[in-house]
Amino acid sequence: MLRTHTCGELRLDHVNQEVRLAGWVQRVRNKGGLIWVDLRDRYGLTQLIFEEDSSEKALLEKAAELGREFVVQATGKVIERTSKNDKIPTGSIEIKVTALEVLNAAKVPPFIIEDETDGGDELRMKYRYLDLRRNVVREKLQLRHKMMQETRKYMDAQDFIEVETPVLIKSTPEGARDFVVPSRTNPGEFYALPQSPQTFKQLLMVSGFDRYFQIVKCFRDEDLRADRQPEFTQIDCEMAFVDQEDILNTFEGLTKHLFKNVKGVELEEVKRMTYADAMKFYGNDKPDVRFDMKFVELNELAQGKGFSIFDSAELVVGICAKGAAEYTRKQLDALTDWVKRPQIGAKGMVYAKYNADGTIKSTVDKFFSADDLQDWADAFGATQGDLMLILSGDADKVRKQLSELRLKMGEDLGLRDRSIFKPLWVMDFPLLEWDEETARFHAMHHPFTSPKKEDMALLDTDPGAVRANAYDLVINGVEIGGGSIRIHDRATQQLMFKHLGFSEEEAQKQFGFLMEAFEYGAPPHGGIAFGFDRLCAIFGGSDSIRDYIAFPKNNSGRDVMIDSPSSIADEQLKELSIQLAVKS
Ligand code: ASP
Repeated sequence: MLRTHTCGELRLDHVNQEVRLAGWVQRVRNKGGLIWVDLRDRYGLTQLIFEEDSSEKALLEKAAELGREFVVQATGKVIERTSKNDKIPTGSIEIKVTALEVLNAAKVPPFIIEDETDGGDELRMKYRYLDLRRNVVREKLQLRHKMMQETRKYMDAQDFIEVETPVLIKSTPEGARDFVVPSRTNPGEFYALPQSPQTFKQLLMVSGFDRYFQIVKCFRDEDLRADRQPEFTQIDCEMAFVDQEDILNTFEGLTKHLFKNVKGVELEEVKRMTYADAMKFYGNDKPDVRFDMKFVELNELAQGKGFSIFDSAELVVGICAKGAAEYTRKQLDALTDWVKRPQIGAKGMVYAKYNADGTIKSTVDKFFSADDLQDWADAFGATQGDLMLILSGDADKVRKQLSELRLKMGEDLGLRDRSIFKPLWVMDFPLLEWDEETARFHAMHHPFTSPKKEDMALLDTDPGAVRANAYDLVINGVEIGGGSIRIHDRATQQLMFKHLGFSEEEAQKQFGFLMEAFEYGAPPHGGIAFGFDRLCAIFGGSDSIRDYIAFPKNNSGRDVMIDSPSSIADEQLKELSIQLAVKS
């Protein structure tokens, strides 16, 4: 070993011991006859000291030449520091160096490699391997590591078998575009990278594996956001001979296990809400239930009083922000502008303040009497000091807008505390979702999801009303996982494809293998997948999943460190029988 100890290990107990450390030079402070060097490795920081009186001259000169990020090996004696640093665990000692070897010199790094850095995002992405030297970045990956180990521990203890499934496959529809890989040996044919291992895990159930899991990379070609990456990781699971309740319990168990063993948090029971209620009361299928502020519908109270904007609206709906009546006119104008931004798209906002003196003041006093406003307040459960915010218009749109406003108010009022975790099962999702663009129904989860038995008859008459045995796990307003009980017989699966607009030939070509498998004794089964990167981000208290991925892509899907995607040689294109329609 090139070292006897790590840079995070030495304490007063080690005083007088001869030690040898190796690591990176974080900082050099040169006071002429006295030089201090902070030596860093993954475990911590240790101070080296070189003194003119006792160190040889050559040694001191060598130390003076050290630059940031040089890799060095230092041998010396542990001594007690005169002025201690209680901010770091090794702060009571330093190493009086007797021999120094530069193992490798380093160019001046493009940004400061300390907790506080001067490097911008793009620069740090380009030199990600340097950014990863910083404690704050490395700690995020250590959290991820811990989450992975604890996941495997729990799943193994529950008799799940970890099985790897292939990466070069054909399309598994999860609602995104596929990444495709051309096949050289089959000219003109392509593999698709898995959007998830969905069909394989179902086939494993047909194989009798009974409980499968995998921590697996998935690939989806979709527009990127802070919480999306083109390749991401799932904890993917499937179980046979279970119903929805068994799956919810098993994965509530996993969630609790992770919170307890990784964060030391005892999670309360995971609450449940139907999709219909989530939409009605929060305008959102992933409500943040750390705070209440439920939607209150006001059609009955607010329509027919001569205010044409409300009268012509499909829905008049609002929220009550507790204690926000003190918002100034300026703040309220800013809030109105905020909902009118194109990203939110509201036409305007009505508000009513329940003042401390018991009066209610609204922006529509012309149309509504004091009694009318009191009725609103009663509907909201508003009391003195509260602020009622009301939007109106097309029901779907207005729910979305109010959902955004609710989240903003929650944020502004400090109700979205990152140290509080409120998980929620959202259940009974619709089976199908109407897509305006293609003017047909799509599977809301994926085409293998089973409709609720009692809703089957609606498939022909009112497909949009059919509910699925599908569920999402939401934590603090973030969708962490989703799954469903599957169809496990050929006839129903075929019927489903028909409703999704597949011709029989198309369905056969794409999913014939699965439907055939269903004819060889497929057990009832269901499963779930957790977005592992998002789960890590929630545990780490961050919005960005990128920080939890060792080598992430930027917002345009590029890896700026290795410069990918990039063009390939003409020779390679020829081998793949590919002709480009764009100039490379
Ligand atoms: N394959 C699904 C997904 O990636 C999860 C599941 O249904 O188990 O969302």
